[in-house]
Amino acid sequence: MSSSELTAKPVVDAERAGSVRIEQVTHQYGRGGEAFTAVGPVDLAVPAGEFLVLVGASGCGKSTLLRLIAGFEQPTHGSVRVSGAEPRPGVSAGVVFQTPRLFPWRTVRGNVDLALRYAGVGRAQWPERRAELLARVGLEGTERRRVWEISGGQQQRVAIARALAAENPLLLLDEPFAALDALTRERLQEDVRQVTERTGRTAVFVTHSAEEAVFLGSRIVVLTKSPGTVAPDLPISLPRGDVDAEELRNSPEFAELRAQVSHAVKAAAAACTPYTPSGKGFDP
Ligand code: ADP
Ligand code: MG
Repeated sequence: MSSSELTAKPVVDAERAGSVRIEQVTHQYGRGGEAFTAVGPVDLAVPAGEFLVLVGASGCGKSTLLRLIAGFEQPTHGSVRVSGAEPRPGVSAGVVFQTPRLFPWRTVRGNVDLALRYAGVGRAQWPERRAELLARVGLEGTERRRVWEISGGQQQRVAIARALAAENPLLLLDEPFAALDALTRERLQEDVRQVTERTGRTAVFVTHSAEEAVFLGSRIVVLTKSPGTVAPDLPISLPRGDVDAEELRNSPEFAELRAQVSHAVKAAAAACTPYTPSGKGFDP
């Protein structure tokens, strides 16, 4: 055991596997007179197990913030911690992008196996783990098909299966369903909600849709227009666990929250309009 382990503080929530802590983070693109502040300053703590949705107008810095959490970008100022440590790109979190980044010449099976290999899973376990992952995203029976032979929705499912392969306690998703038709989008939203809940993962999900945010989030943070800073931070207390998705989407509580989030996003995007909550609070 190293001396740092011996002197380590007791594990607090901010250091639990899957937690995210963003402190005084600013991110600039370019340098000197050309420098443009895309994000910050932002302070945000995401406890392990939370489903945080970042919502905001286009260009307000959502993807930048997600890339900072993934470790793909370094903050200009401030610190980002994932599970109590500096994020390691490709290691600290499973990431799903807007367009699935798959190997098009490989089969579904080949794409998932590659993720299992990167995750350090022993080859003997691949068939079982692959079958389990594909079943989780509803892709049973597609193993031998090439990526170009499956639909956009199925490709996005493969991307989700790949992100789940590493069993990271943190999942980062950047508008993963934006390019899909409404029906497929709803199905995948249900899948992601269920998978994160069943596995106890933390999720940070970026969207510009109030509807998607309310359906998925256990908490919603609205980003103001660039430079993105955190505007209202809304806990969502819609039921989780074994819920009827259709019923949930059609409930008056859902409609009320969607209207509040939609209003908050518009207020945050209009630079000089301070956001004022309706006074009813955000817990239905
Ligand atoms: P969002 O995901 O909310 O649409 P982004 O994080 O992609 O926003 O971008 C935030 C701002 O930073 C935008 O004004 C965008 O033009 C700018 N930006 C994003 N990436 C870069 C980059 N690589 N270089 C320069 N500016 C960038
Ligand atoms: Mg974006």
